Amino acid sequence: MSHRVLIIGSGPAAHTAAIYAARAELKPVLFEGFLAGGVAAGGQLTTTTDVENFPGFPEGIMGPDLTERFRAQSERFGTTIHTETVNEVDLSSRPFHFKADTQEGTAQTIIIATGATAKRLDIPGASDGELWQKGISACAVCDGALPAFRNQPLAVIGGGDSAVEEATFLTKYGSPVYIVHRRDELRASKIMQHRALTNSKIEMLWSHVVTEAKGKDFLEAIRVKDLKTDEERDVPVAGLFFAIGHTPNTAFLNGQIDTDEQGYIITKPDSTATNVPGVFAAGDAQDKKWRQAVTAAGTGCMAALEAEHFLTAQG
Ligand code: FAD
Repeated sequence: MSHRVLIIGSGPAAHTAAIYAARAELKPVLFEGFLAGGVAAGGQLTTTTDVENFPGFPEGIMGPDLTERFRAQSERFGTTIHTETVNEVDLSSRPFHFKADTQEGTAQTIIIATGATAKRLDIPGASDGELWQKGISACAVCDGALPAFRNQPLAVIGGGDSAVEEATFLTKYGSPVYIVHRRDELRASKIMQHRALTNSKIEMLWSHVVTEAKGKDFLEAIRVKDLKTDEERDVPVAGLFFAIGHTPNTAFLNGQIDTDEQGYIITKPDSTATNVPGVFAAGDAQDKKWRQAVTAAGTGCMAALEAEHFLTAQG
């Protein structure tokens, strides 16, 4: 039997799509991945601690607990979940064919909600089990407002628009905010450069790299190296944010879906439809702008409703 709705992914987009599709009695099948894109099933929220901006949790909720709740709600309405990665899809004709780690099958519609992986630098002290999520994050909008960062010096690594955006955002909470950039000019657009260079709370560390994250239970300082002089020194900071980009988990599509040059899936305006009828995309795999759990959930809802309309129209 061909599945009516195949959902690939396991973050807020995938599970919201699953909840809607299951309640519409489409018996969705969801492949949550097995460390696909280097992220555990449950998605990026499994890599964070307090989530304070998802509605419905006035006291905040830990990221992994929130993803557990998404999963339980999908299952409650009858979603079948497999802990496998979908490695291949053939979108040349419907039903679409797919291959996962140990099984294969077909589906009338596919919702791609494979998310994106925030790039992290391999700096001593910054790994999981060290200071990652103990002052070190890859999302200033998500974590910047945490009490530990209030009125503290903070640092952002990067030189593009998102680095400037994140640093500007962080100036609401901490000061100074260092932008550590390995070059001596920003890659960011002129307007963003102007914003960074005229903000008195932002301090540029040009031609610098971070060589170590230091602290006992929480980040206390970063060791930086001046690439022009090779001199190293410690800069006290309570927060370090990577703003060096994301990798959308879309390589397995093998060029069958239109993406932009970075690999983000292109969807039709006001829609989650892709260039292939019957294939929809939701969440961070198609969104390089907002990248929030709640926006991912919103597009997951849209994708399920659009898949349902598509199936109805196909009779
Ligand atoms: P993701 O969460 O990216 O999950 C996609 C899942 O699909 C992953 O588990 C991946 O392994 C799996 N997958 C990938 N490829 C395949 C495949 N081929 N087959 C099967 N499975 C696959 N947002 C907030 O709103 N609030 C916060 O406080 C917050 N904090 C954050 C903190 C950090 C450190 C990070 C990195 C992000 C944070 N975000 C936060 C952003 C938020 O996590 C993302 O916007 C959101 O999770 C995106 O959801 P998604 O459904 O698109 O997919």
